[in-house]
Amino acid sequence: MFFHKRLFILPLIILSFFLLTGCGSIEKTTTSSTAPTQTDKGSHLQVHFLNVGQADSILVIVPNGQTILIDGGNGSDGSEVVNYLKSQGVKELTAIVATHPHEDHIGGLDTIIQSYPPKQVYMPNATSTTKTFEDFIKAVNASGAKKIRAKTGVKLDVSEISGLFLAPNSDQYEDLNNYSAVLKITFGKVSFMLTGDAEAVSEAEMLKSGQDLQATVLKVGHHGSSSSTTSAFLNAISPKYSVISVGLDNDYGHPTQVTLNRLTKAGVPVYRTDQDGTIVATSDGDTVKFTTSSSSTSPKPAQPIPTIATGSLAISTIDLSGEVVTILNSSDQAVNLTGWKLVSEVGNQTYTFPAGTTILASETLKVISGGNAQSGSGVLVWTDSNIWNNDGDPGALYNVEGQMVSRK
Ligand SMILES: [Zn+2]
Repeated sequence: MFFHKRLFILPLIILSFFLLTGCGSIEKTTTSSTAPTQTDKGSHLQVHFLNVGQADSILVIVPNGQTILIDGGNGSDGSEVVNYLKSQGVKELTAIVATHPHEDHIGGLDTIIQSYPPKQVYMPNATSTTKTFEDFIKAVNASGAKKIRAKTGVKLDVSEISGLFLAPNSDQYEDLNNYSAVLKITFGKVSFMLTGDAEAVSEAEMLKSGQDLQATVLKVGHHGSSSSTTSAFLNAISPKYSVISVGLDNDYGHPTQVTLNRLTKAGVPVYRTDQDGTIVATSDGDTVKFTTSSSSTSPKPAQPIPTIATGSLAISTIDLSGEVVTILNSSDQAVNLTGWKLVSEVGNQTYTFPAGTTILASETLKVISGGNAQSGSGVLVWTDSNIWNNDGDPGALYNVEGQMVSRK
């Protein structure tokens, strides 16, 4: 009986683990071993965005040699992060920040803590029932590190820089991502906003709190998911550069086109770990320079989004039962769909395209609805309810002036 019970419980634990993980480990690329070495120690601040695939791990090296590690990648990344720390000459970790209990943030931390017992561990007041979280807590307790609750107003106990937590601002959230400890590190005139997986709910709270959100470099929230980086939040930060920590060909469609378009519209260049490998920002307190493991020193330039609306845009198909509308841009220019509307005529329901939506030349965009709807690259989610009447339901596309552009 005992074994039967265990066998029954195990799949449940595994299932709940995946449900709770939300943005866990799928494909990952190999961590680069050719990232720049620690050459400027002594006068410069370094922020290393490690290429840990679909996960986060950020190493901050303060000029005085103190070190902060924000997240430790997935479970399988732990030893690679340890090797990276060694390669950078890190002798000890002053502090670890565990932004929130998802596996792609704390998964590698148990291994890292065993090699590098930190003096302090900052984490939000959030728990998880996963083995990953258990292992993390066990490692923290065994290390003897001081546990400090990360929440708005808490300061890092590190000298030469200012490390201030701007979130979480509440005690309870529906989604674990919103518990993310959001850390702003300031060194002279240069600052870094490290957002974990904080989503729109937390971003709105940060905006409401009246804190100074402006930062030179933004670590884009939640791997570039459309659930983060609202236009209002991005405007308040007004970063000069952004970094997205994301896995190549990940199953979540991260980073989403919506988020990339917002960054483009705001004129913010983007570095991506899936394209650039490990990214190192170095600052003397006045300016910030980037190096990547592919040795390229310039980020992907922000691509201008033309505001033209051509007649070459049309609904190419409506899959009524599959709840997928495909829109094709047959012109040779990108079309900005901000404020455009898609209408289900029978159901009399309207979808408004969010700010920053574009269709590139010769590309399609899908608008999906229903229970399995998941956003991704080139895919927008209308709602998780069913919209289209399977017995026949014309769909119409209207431009921002309210003129019908296409009907199918
Ligand atoms: Zn994540």
